[in-house]
Amino acid sequence: MKFGGTSVGKPERMHHIATLVSQGTEPTLVVLSALSGTTNALVEIGDYLSKGDRTATRKCIDKLEAHYHSFVDELVTDKAAKAKATAIIAEHFEFLNIILKISFSEALNKDILAQGELLSTKLFCTYLEEQGIDHFLLPALEFMVIDSYDEPQVSVIKKRLTPILNKHKDKKLFVTQGYICRNSKGEVDNLKRGGSDYSASLIAAAISASACEIWTDIDGMHNNDPRIVKKTIPVEQLSFEEAAELAYFGAKILHPASIWPAQQYNIPVKLLNTMQPQSKGTLITEKAGSVGVKAVAAKDNIIAIRIKSSRMLLAYGFLRKIFEVFEKYRTPIDMITTSEVAVSLTIDNSSHLKEIVKELKPFGNIELDEKQTIISVVGNNISQTEDMVKKLFGSIRNIPVRMVSYGGSPHNISLLVPAEYKTQLLQQLNKGMFGLE
Ligand code: ADP
Ligand code: ASP
Ligand code: MG
Repeated sequence: MKFGGTSVGKPERMHHIATLVSQGTEPTLVVLSALSGTTNALVEIGDYLSKGDRTATRKCIDKLEAHYHSFVDELVTDKAAKAKATAIIAEHFEFLNIILKISFSEALNKDILAQGELLSTKLFCTYLEEQGIDHFLLPALEFMVIDSYDEPQVSVIKKRLTPILNKHKDKKLFVTQGYICRNSKGEVDNLKRGGSDYSASLIAAAISASACEIWTDIDGMHNNDPRIVKKTIPVEQLSFEEAAELAYFGAKILHPASIWPAQQYNIPVKLLNTMQPQSKGTLITEKAGSVGVKAVAAKDNIIAIRIKSSRMLLAYGFLRKIFEVFEKYRTPIDMITTSEVAVSLTIDNSSHLKEIVKELKPFGNIELDEKQTIISVVGNNISQTEDMVKKLFGSIRNIPVRMVSYGGSPHNISLLVPAEYKTQLLQQLNKGMFGLE
């Protein structure tokens, strides 16, 4: 059971999830995020520190510390528990205050970012203890690891986690940190923003869990982005492929990589609402349930690159040479379309854009379109759905579509549009594809 930031963000929510996690009969492993707002605050602290602005860094640290003191005031009531919780806050804020005296580095920044999940799990366990709920706090930094390519391996996590769990066979409830891990150098690292979902799926795979439950602030995967479109509805069932496409193409409810571990080990994933535990939510398994379009999602900050070359005409080996450039800079390509004389592709990681463009230049004329958004329409065998293409193209009127990718998978059609058209397109698709306004 994984609980996100808003699910643990208020003392009464922590009280509520303590009840939820201690109700079941099966042994349960609970993965917690940081309290909502904490990781953003830690990012800010790291940013100020990297710029050498110690006054602003201190201000952020003090504000965050005050928030934790008022949180704890309402979290626990007995004296011993209050003293314990206060000592936990003191320990972690002592670390944050020490950073003011040392010079900034990327490794230090990762240590800063890890404080949120360390705090939330320790405070939650203090509350469980006060309530007399037996549990064991599993330190994620002892088993959650990534390799030299920053990739987690389920087999390695399993090898580290199993002996710890075996040592505590008498326990029925385990609590651990999402998001944080150790890298191949043994340093504290993380699974990128929103990474607690990924932790949960990796752990579920490593322990062959009967289910991986992602508890959040909404009743499952909706058909459209509820932050942008007014009327959205939950999707009851998704296949792993559909859920993976939606997560990868921007549905924030799931970390982009969080589906593959569960899929590989065939573990059902449930998306559930902490605030409404009785609502159905979304079930993600091998089965798609029904044929047709299920949802749309949007992925921002995309760059389109067009390589135009008359030498591409009737040439083979051209695409290989282009792909090699992206491989060299470890930059994944999301969308690709080709014509006889040009190829367009998209990336979302611009850290090596300059080098990539430089190396592509010998192959032809290079054009860049920045600030683009990929809108993905996802479903089961969507190409077989009656009138699907008609409805889709009917919905994109008045929008300058830069690329269309259809047929790559039976589950996805992607459109690339300038970012300023994202809201309009999501709204038009809601009406045109789902009949919702
Ligand atoms: P948590 O802190 O629990 O991890 P997140 O904020 O990461 O929660 O994810 C849940 C949020 O994802 C929802 O509140 C919602 O605003 C957003 N979201 C974006 N797209 C979707 C979608 N298609 N379905 C459901 N939620 C979505
Ligand atoms: N706390 C981390 C974040 O805000 C991880 C997570 O919430 O999943 O990104
Ligand atoms: Mg999240």
